[in-house]
Amino acid sequence: MLETNAKPASAPEAKSFEGYFLAASEESQTAYREAIAAATEVAIAAFANRAQPYSGASPWQLAAELGKTEIWGDSGQFLPEILQNIGESTIAHSAIVSHPRCIAHLHCPPLIPALAAEVLITATNQSMDSWDQSPAATLVEQQLIGWLCGEFGYDAAGDGIFTSGGTQSNFMGMLLARDRYAKQHLNWSIQQQGLPPESAHFRILCSDAAHFTIRQACAHLGLGERAVVPVQSDTNYCISPTALEEKIRKLKQQNLLPIALVGTVGTTDFGSIDPLGLLGEIARLHGLWFHVDAAYGGALVMSDRHCHKLAGIETADSIAVDFHKLFYQPISCGAFLLKDQGNFELMKLHADYLNPETNEAEGIPDLVTKSVQTTRRFDALKLWISLQAVGRKAFGEMIDITLERATETAQAIAHTARLELANYPSLNAVVFRYLPQNTQRSNAINGQIRTTLLQRGEAVLAQTRIAGETYLKFTLLNPRTQRSDIEYLLHKIQQLGAELDR
Ligand SMILES: *Cc1c(COP(=O)(O)O)cnc(C)c1O
Repeated sequence: MLETNAKPASAPEAKSFEGYFLAASEESQTAYREAIAAATEVAIAAFANRAQPYSGASPWQLAAELGKTEIWGDSGQFLPEILQNIGESTIAHSAIVSHPRCIAHLHCPPLIPALAAEVLITATNQSMDSWDQSPAATLVEQQLIGWLCGEFGYDAAGDGIFTSGGTQSNFMGMLLARDRYAKQHLNWSIQQQGLPPESAHFRILCSDAAHFTIRQACAHLGLGERAVVPVQSDTNYCISPTALEEKIRKLKQQNLLPIALVGTVGTTDFGSIDPLGLLGEIARLHGLWFHVDAAYGGALVMSDRHCHKLAGIETADSIAVDFHKLFYQPISCGAFLLKDQGNFELMKLHADYLNPETNEAEGIPDLVTKSVQTTRRFDALKLWISLQAVGRKAFGEMIDITLERATETAQAIAHTARLELANYPSLNAVVFRYLPQNTQRSNAINGQIRTTLLQRGEAVLAQTRIAGETYLKFTLLNPRTQRSDIEYLLHKIQQLGAELDR
């Protein structure tokens, strides 16, 4: 404690800031309790009595409303009042993620145990970069990674790291693929020397339905988007192994260097799953790094009925899996898994202030060596708590029921005259379109169906394009969505389609 009487007698008392931080004093605890309680009420109000998944407000209306806010004044305002106002101006115009008609994207309603975990994650504010900033948290993350490696069929050599999501996990997969190739085949450290001249010839193969972040990663990694060679997918939107072998042969003929193969478990539009076992064999045969983007479909691991669809994933050198999709975690939460932990050496760095090599020698785990982030959230805690609170059975049932709902939805669409189904879903995304009499206006009408439902706040749907044609998409992640919700929506879509067709 500073001796206060060391100050000149005339100095005013320093403000204590006690009510601003969670600490030991009663004042601080009371402030925290009241703040969290007030926020809880605003959150509950946001979901209460919401007949629609969105208010329908346009970006212009929202900008005008929010423009009235004074960002900060000279003195702070009363928190419960601020929260109340935010509730009305902002939270009330959220997309209601647990509404059964909020089905546009891979955007999930978060589990309540995970929301409780978030309270602890943010209050304790552990940072996962160095062990001294996250002592127990580091070990929780590592244990969970060990468990995940086991679930995906890796042995004790496996390792991984929590990430911000699929974008970062795919980036890490492409980074390590690139750097390992240079090390093994060119005796070149990209980490030390930058890109070798041969890198202009590096090629990464994936299906033409793979996620755009594979191209993005290759662009960021100095390989350019041209390094990504799309392989034609079959009628089920899965990569065709014959087309793949043919592409590899052609690349080699042109003296290009195939370095990696990406398989997707759950393409964004169709939820299609590449034949992982076959891809693993082809990768091994040609010495390619095999990365599996299971951001969407990795959650099948929790379902006894559907986990067989992941067969072969254990042959992957690296796996991207997202928890803020079908594991029902709040954003953000994902993981990057590595079959051989030795490959983390390719990206390891030491900072004297953070993770000196002496720490490593003493066995102190500083996770910064495995991440492209430095300061990093303790997101592992919410998955850790959710798995314990929900358990294997209910998690599996949630996956099963959403897949079942998608299959039923596809069947209903296939049996409706004015609707055209684009895919039989292997996960829970269903792509289809309204077929107007006036076929020339099909794209315009389908686009308008989506925007009209959003503007009216009645449904949040996605759209996509197949061969230049506009389609609508339901992503049925929400296990609370009922058959009646789907029937209602399909009816609305046909009604609107007919109106617009006139
Ligand atoms: C969502 C998704 C990504 C991107 O992941 P983020 O978590 O949004 O960063 C990549 N690949 C696939 C297949 C996805 O579904």
